[in-house]
Amino acid sequence: MITTKQSAIDKFMDMVDLKNPAQPEFHQAVYEVALAIVPFIEKNPVYKKANILERMIEAERILIFRVPWMDDAGNYRVNRGYRVQMNSAIGPYKGGLRFHPNVNLSVLKFLAFEQVFKNSLTTLPMGGGKGGSDFDPKGKSDNEVMRFCQSFMTELYQHIGKDTDIPAGDVGVGSREIGFLFGQYKRLKNEFTGVLTGKGYAYGGSLIRPEATGYGLLFFVEEMLKTKNQTLKGKKVLISGSGNVAQYAIEKTLAFGGIPVTASDSNGFIYDPKGIDAAKLEFLMELKNVKRGRIKEYADKFGCEYFEGEKPWGIPCDVALPCAIQNELDEEDAKLLVENGCMLVAEGANMPTTPDAITWLHKNGVLYAPGKASNAGGVATSGLEMSQNSIRLYWTRAEVEERLRIIMCDIHDQCIKYGKDEKGNVDYVKGANIAGFVRVADAMIAEGHV
Ligand code: NDP
Repeated sequence: MITTKQSAIDKFMDMVDLKNPAQPEFHQAVYEVALAIVPFIEKNPVYKKANILERMIEAERILIFRVPWMDDAGNYRVNRGYRVQMNSAIGPYKGGLRFHPNVNLSVLKFLAFEQVFKNSLTTLPMGGGKGGSDFDPKGKSDNEVMRFCQSFMTELYQHIGKDTDIPAGDVGVGSREIGFLFGQYKRLKNEFTGVLTGKGYAYGGSLIRPEATGYGLLFFVEEMLKTKNQTLKGKKVLISGSGNVAQYAIEKTLAFGGIPVTASDSNGFIYDPKGIDAAKLEFLMELKNVKRGRIKEYADKFGCEYFEGEKPWGIPCDVALPCAIQNELDEEDAKLLVENGCMLVAEGANMPTTPDAITWLHKNGVLYAPGKASNAGGVATSGLEMSQNSIRLYWTRAEVEERLRIIMCDIHDQCIKYGKDEKGNVDYVKGANIAGFVRVADAMIAEGHV
């Protein structure tokens, strides 16, 4: 039997399909939101009357541009650049840049849409946006990456600004790329402003920004565990990815007494049953951030197992933290996690868990946190970097980390407020979506027909 609630969601999604053909990732992100928000809107006609959700799925502006550059051999190369300026109701657009071969409009619209809710949850004045390119920094020389970044910024600089749109890093855009992008912006505009976050500390960055997404994820996990009167101490933790988010998720897992046993890249994963300790993490960071090598080299160095072309979700664990890429944990993986006793899944990456997998985790009583809540620490600390740039003062590591911890606890509280049912169970997806929605929707209504 189709319920009224379901038919309203289906009707809404039919409209999304019609207006945004062939954009599967964007549909997936909107569907997850619609499941929580359409029934909420039915009960709160003020939002229905203002047609808020239909307005929110339409980007305020999308820029698509050519990025020409020259490789070291003197060949002319070209990539496509994007910036999706999704929603500025509560502040200037804010969200990262992704350089990865699978970047397309669907991927960036999904990321920008998620970003609107995530930024709202932080309670900081930041709208949502996302951008990037199908450029692959892997295998490119530093000079090639610099020339690409300079060309990318030569177009983008006209559309961003400290009070308009403040990009940051994401997959494939780390401190090296942010440095090149910032340098070119400064040159073109002849001004030194906080137009990008994730900057190096020497030129306007915030302490703890590199650590923030991974640290924030673990602060959130500790809050989730507290609801079950548990902590991370002694728990076996699976982590995917080996980039920025994964590295600091491993570091904070160790700090909380957990045992991180896996890390991965797009070629495969390593399983280190003794745990990735601080010394091994240092090796991994050097391998990934400086030598730009493959995760297999960790297994070669420490004599543990390496699984080519596989994902880590079949390893028995207490906690799983997907920190690599969208849709990396599907229903089969969720079944393995449940079978092997996993009690908590929290997303470091954006939308790494497929809808079927989320349903399976919920059905089996696994605590599950969506990235828009659990990985919001990165953008929250970007917000703190913006504040420091504005007041031209820098806070200590301890100050920034404490602010980050408070923000993550507050996001957890908001999820509980909107996501707890009569039996005391928390649906973090529902909680995060409604809490994120309300603030943006109220601002949109107050601002009129925008
Ligand atoms: P990085 O580029 O630093 O690392 C990405 C990691 O994911 C790498 O280990 C990469 O491996 C791996 N990866 C990429 N594609 C695949 C794939 N198809 N299958 C398996 N692994 C893959 O990015 P971040 O750590 O910054 O970002 C990771 C995730 O976290 C993304 O979803 C991002 O949107 C999200 N996020 C990041 C934030 C931040 O502050 N950086 C903030 C909030 C969310 P390889 O080297 O082989 O490509």
